[in-house]
Amino acid sequence: MTRIAVVGGGISGMTAALRAARDLRADVTLYESAAVLGGHANTVVVDDPSGPIAVDTAFLVYNRLHYPRFVALLRELGVEDETCAADMSASFVDDDRDMRYALLRGLGGVFCQKENLLRPAFWRIFLDLAAFRRRARADVRADRIDEATTLGAYLEPYSAAFRDHFVVPLTAAIWSLPDEHVLLYPARAILAFFENHGLLAGRSGAAWRTFRGGSRVYVDAFARTFGGTLRLGEKVSRIERRPGGRVIVRSSSGEASFDHAVLATHADTSLALLAAPTREERALLGAFRYHPTTVTLHEDTSLLHPDPRLRASWNTVRRRGVLRITYLLNRVQPVATRRELLLTLGDAPIRPEKVLRTFSYAHPIFDAEAVSAQRRLASLDGGAVSFCGAWAGHGFHEDGVVAAERVIAALPARLPAAQRASSWTVGSSRTTFGTPASARSR
Ligand SMILES: Cc1cc2nc3c(=O)[nH]c(=O)nc-3n(C[C@H](O)[C@H](O)[C@H](O)COP(=O)(O)OP(=O)(O)OC[C@H]3O[C@@H](n4cnc5c(N)ncnc54)[C@H](O)[C@@H]3O)c2cc1C
Repeated sequence: MTRIAVVGGGISGMTAALRAARDLRADVTLYESAAVLGGHANTVVVDDPSGPIAVDTAFLVYNRLHYPRFVALLRELGVEDETCAADMSASFVDDDRDMRYALLRGLGGVFCQKENLLRPAFWRIFLDLAAFRRRARADVRADRIDEATTLGAYLEPYSAAFRDHFVVPLTAAIWSLPDEHVLLYPARAILAFFENHGLLAGRSGAAWRTFRGGSRVYVDAFARTFGGTLRLGEKVSRIERRPGGRVIVRSSSGEASFDHAVLATHADTSLALLAAPTREERALLGAFRYHPTTVTLHEDTSLLHPDPRLRASWNTVRRRGVLRITYLLNRVQPVATRRELLLTLGDAPIRPEKVLRTFSYAHPIFDAEAVSAQRRLASLDGGAVSFCGAWAGHGFHEDGVVAAERVIAALPARLPAAQRASSWTVGSSRTTFGTPASARSR
């Protein structure tokens, strides 16, 4: 039976492992350095007098229209019914320039600041939005934005209010990125993402979903049905390609030999794991830089504007020149508590006694070099090691699924002929855990 190692237990690695075990009926071992599966699908439990509350701390929402492969995966895992509509309201507060409003919080949110009614800059935001949507849609569809055009340059025809009080905070919130990076991003990649998610057509709002009980619902379903071996809490330190096509995976528990390895870690990690990367691997995987993000789960509502009409799911607040993004988890996910549970990205003056947990995540930076490398990723196909991750697309869950399915679908043609002839036999139907049960509980 063909033996495949998958490294990384986020959405990309889980999809690759499931497809290899189920579709190819290979003998699959999934290595995950953390004690639990999920990667950025990271649900934690908060104690509350009403009982334990599960909330997500990174991946929170998906779009039923624009995440077709992820939706198919949820159906396969039998958990689509455990999702519900996500509230996608957003607030834009700029205390430095005394401008604030919220969208999808009713008219009270849009006009919460009476002065805005008399402010031409405020009305320009909506006029510019209509013009921007029309132009961006046409440009994306005709593929006429060149790679060198930054978002900042693309936004030049529009007002500063539209740029600073709408596009920059919204994009920073979507990509969980510092706002100073946003205007330097390639317009082509950002606008393609907006179009792909229906944001330029303004029609994807109702299709956003979240998980009742947090995203661990689908992660747990994967663990129950995968059928291969899970090696949790086992960090891979080196991947060596041997003559004849074997791959040696060295991890914290020793060495194991495989016919193929799928690296579903971030691009920089995958490159660092390779004992002898090719020139192409160095160039393409090395083109992706990452931005580390500290994420704090807390209850310090002083980070939000006190006006309740401005308490939205996604809150952007600029104070003393710093833009902070805070998700109000109670609005995004169905959480049965009166407490306001907040998730703030980056450093923030959060009162220590209000902090519940902190997390550290890394985000790919889709600058011109990374976007150009993405177009050439197919040139890495062909050897005994393949690469996938959300970084191969726009950086979201759907991209992780698509990238993983692509490498697994290409695998049968990639194995040596002798290996192919005897390979895809019966896979085991029950997941085996390669680590002590204590390492698996959340
Ligand atoms: C704050 C935040 C909010 C987000 N919100 C959303 C959202 O709402 N919707 C959405 O679609 N996307 C969201 N994303 C994007 C998210 O990154 C992607 O959707 C996706 O989860 C990335 O999956 P991945 O499998 O490619 O990477 P990861 O989830 O990062 O998985 C990589 C895995 O590899 C493991 N690993 C690393 N090194 C090793 C090693 N040496 N050995 C073994 N294992 C290793 C890691 O522990 C990790 O589990 C968000 C991201 C962040 C940071």
